[in-house]
Amino acid sequence: GAQATELDTIVIGSGPGGYVAAIRAAELGQQVTVIERGNIGGVCLNIGCIPSKALINVGHHYQATQQENPFGLSVEGASIDWSKTQDWKQHSVVDQLTSGVSMLFKKHKIDVIQGDASFIDNETINVIQEDGHQLLQFNNAIIATGSRPVEIPGFKFKGRVVDSTGALSLPEIPKSLIVVGGGVIGSELGGAYANFGTNVTIVEGLDHTLNGFDKEMTKPVLDDFKKKGGEIFTSAMAKSVDQTDDDVTLTFEVDGKEQTVTGDYLLVSVGRRPNTDELGLNNTDVKVSDRGLIEIDDQMQTSTHHIYAIGDVTAGPALAHKASFQAKIAAAAITGDPTAHDIHYSLPSVAYTNYEMATTGETPESVKENKLNAKVTKFPFAANGRALSMNEGVGFIRLITDKETNAVLGGQIVGPGASDLISEISLAIESGLTTNDISLTIHPHPTLGEGIMDAAEVADGLGIHI
Ligand code: FAD
Repeated sequence: GAQATELDTIVIGSGPGGYVAAIRAAELGQQVTVIERGNIGGVCLNIGCIPSKALINVGHHYQATQQENPFGLSVEGASIDWSKTQDWKQHSVVDQLTSGVSMLFKKHKIDVIQGDASFIDNETINVIQEDGHQLLQFNNAIIATGSRPVEIPGFKFKGRVVDSTGALSLPEIPKSLIVVGGGVIGSELGGAYANFGTNVTIVEGLDHTLNGFDKEMTKPVLDDFKKKGGEIFTSAMAKSVDQTDDDVTLTFEVDGKEQTVTGDYLLVSVGRRPNTDELGLNNTDVKVSDRGLIEIDDQMQTSTHHIYAIGDVTAGPALAHKASFQAKIAAAAITGDPTAHDIHYSLPSVAYTNYEMATTGETPESVKENKLNAKVTKFPFAANGRALSMNEGVGFIRLITDKETNAVLGGQIVGPGASDLISEISLAIESGLTTNDISLTIHPHPTLGEGIMDAAEVADGLGIHI
């Protein structure tokens, strides 16, 4: 057969798992080759985290012109040039970031092969390219092939039935949008369109949307969504879909009763499946679970020790920062410098809904479940000067702390800036900080972050602002 090229480290996929692994491995002295069949940057940069946040941001700006406010601003005739929005999202945001990754690859002398990779055996990868194929032999490989949307039978992504990628690039702002699956992705995108004035209906199989965030957190989010005309059906089973040239009708069942809803588009966001089914893993000794997830140890090593796996192909939440963190562990392990981390301990999770929600570490439920000797303290944004001056005195900061040592064990935030604020709580958990450490750290005034200091003081029985 064909002669295989011998390579040091191969990374398959260039999402937040793959590109970070490649750069870190190169920094640590490896000669790295990345194989990517799509666009550099993976799902997150091209069709996930980044473009969704871009649209959500525009939605906030537009909504600000539409909502009655108490501070006397009124805007007439505000409008959105959707093609400009789309253009900006692609060229000024996505392309900017992905070309940045390509530049970093060059800087670190990382080779990129455009093509579809699959394993031939434990040491060899075949790459199918536009004009043929090539065989690559490797010392180490990192699988970072990510995930794709689940397609439910009868709901083919076609025409007016779209996945998250389609929902990010609709040809127009729809008058109405149906969302099947009210998880984070469906709720974020549904919320963004609700801000654009779209009538959004969410149909969710569970008895609640935004799974992973507790009811106390989701309440302000759901109230806001409903205030904007959003409708939510829970414990609802999507049955079938019918589309015409002009619209799409969903039939679903609640309490044994069939109902229909018609809209301009239907987004199906019922979960993602790992891209492990066409990787030729059956030709290797890499173990894969029933759900297609690659089994790994705490060094990201698979059952074949020189093959690593990171990101959405591994168990746990499908999050970009999880993929990137695993990437650094794998790169270090490859270069003979294993690190020890409990990656799930303070792995933050954020929903970019209105209002934003963020959680890290222990939660009130996990405290109950594991019978932890911990207490829960809340500080409302209504008592935070910065939040009020932004007209966003909604939501709260919650700290979970050890009753005995006052160590910070977890935290949840719903409200303004939650996505950025949560890192302070993660840092506190990772560093073993106590509430006293936080309250002895001077926080600038007026800031949203002061709320974390306030919460710490309340936990210590020394609250100033409540
Ligand atoms: P991916 O980013 O999926 O990248 C995998 C890459 O591998 C792809 O480029 C693919 O083309 C390539 N590939 C696959 N198979 C092969 C093959 N055989 N050969 C060659 N190349 C291959 N996460 C967050 O943390 N925050 C968010 O705000 C957020 N928002 C999201 C919004 C949306 C709409 C979506 C869909 C996802 C969002 N996510 C978010 C999830 C996040 O995008 C993923 O967790 C993350 O991209 C996973 O990174 P990864 O490196 O594992 O894989």
